[in-house]
Amino acid sequence: MYALIEELFPICRSITGDGMRETLRRLRCHIPLEMVEVPSGTQVFDWTVPNEWNIHDAWIANSRGERVVDFAASNLHVVNYSVPVRQRMSLAELRPHLHSLPDHPDWIPYRTSYYKESWGFCLPHRVLESLPEDLYEVCIDSSLEPGHLTYGEYVVRGRSEQEVLLSCHCCHPSLANDNLSAIAVAVALAQRLDAMATELEYTYRFLFIPGTIGSITWLARNRGVAARIRYGLVLSCLGDEGSLTYKRSRRGDTLVDRAAAHVLGRRGDGHRVRKFVPYGYDERQYCSPGFNLAVGCLTRTPNGEFAEYHTSGDNLRFVQPQSLTDSLSVCERIIEVLEHDGTYVNQSPWCEPQLGRRGLYRATGGAGLPEYEMALLWVLSYSDGEFTLLDIAERAGIDFHIVRKAAVDLVGCDLLRPASAGASAAQQVAFEYAQRSPAPLAGGAV
Ligand code: ZN
Repeated sequence: MYALIEELFPICRSITGDGMRETLRRLRCHIPLEMVEVPSGTQVFDWTVPNEWNIHDAWIANSRGERVVDFAASNLHVVNYSVPVRQRMSLAELRPHLHSLPDHPDWIPYRTSYYKESWGFCLPHRVLESLPEDLYEVCIDSSLEPGHLTYGEYVVRGRSEQEVLLSCHCCHPSLANDNLSAIAVAVALAQRLDAMATELEYTYRFLFIPGTIGSITWLARNRGVAARIRYGLVLSCLGDEGSLTYKRSRRGDTLVDRAAAHVLGRRGDGHRVRKFVPYGYDERQYCSPGFNLAVGCLTRTPNGEFAEYHTSGDNLRFVQPQSLTDSLSVCERIIEVLEHDGTYVNQSPWCEPQLGRRGLYRATGGAGLPEYEMALLWVLSYSDGEFTLLDIAERAGIDFHIVRKAAVDLVGCDLLRPASAGASAAQQVAFEYAQRSPAPLAGGAV
């Protein structure tokens, strides 16, 4: 994952253009994603696909011809989506087009101007402060013309047509955590799901899209597919050293919300679970009331809450390989819940069945029970057709992963069976138990 981030880091991406195409082409070396091109001017709900932006070079030179700001050194130096410009101007005329961060004088800020035609440069405040009065030559060799918006889509087919959506934005230039980390985790997750596709219940759809306009465009073109999305996660900022954050879907208490809260909650490492707010990443499109999908957002430190956010400080040193690995495993644990949560029925509900005889319990008693053995008791106790495995994991305070293993083992020795589907499963089980109930003791109960 880190190597992929290193490879993609130098590319100047934007919401449209060749940087996005080149990025998706490189992802194709890892997963055979489909690249979709949507023409500029296409109406997508209340928005219009913008003109395509490409950039070749940009610089500011002083009167001696020395480049004092150079796009070749960092693509953050140019305000993303700047219109072409070539002119000479005084420092006073140039100044309104220069952006810097006085609080972090060595970092270059990342700025965009997608929907308002303008141009500008971003530079370290230290450099800005040192610019003398002079006649500067300014060049932005860019183009903003009718073309296409490009996005990538990759589907891993499970047994069901019902889908789980994994979405990440790919529109930022040389920023490592904000977007490249999530792209790398999404690619690795797609590969892992691909390798186990025959065991998957859900179909998994990965979107690699420009932020906001990309999800709006995809939703406008895929309303039928959107109707099949049961759950989803927007992935972003998954490589920093901070602890994980889950932002709930607008609905707030769907299975993906509960699964993410459970998986993060079991880690006890300063994680955050937050309510939905209609700001942030593409979850605000997926959760808009017309779609109202069960899509949350998984990050480590949230966007806007780390100093390096949208600056050149969000670089290859800011992203840690072990954070990427950890984020990937959390995604897998959340998916494990989506895939395997279910309701079961205890087949031996009259007192506890003897587990030691079946090899499920350790031989010597005395000290407290290990978690796995506790999970066996919890699953047997609550599997009456009403409580799901996640309900049981939450009540027991035991990892879903362990509760699920207990359920699999109990099914294996016929002490448990999956409940038949339907809201009345618990009533059916009560009826079944009454039918199968042992005969009353001789003499009858008084
Ligand atoms: Zn961003």
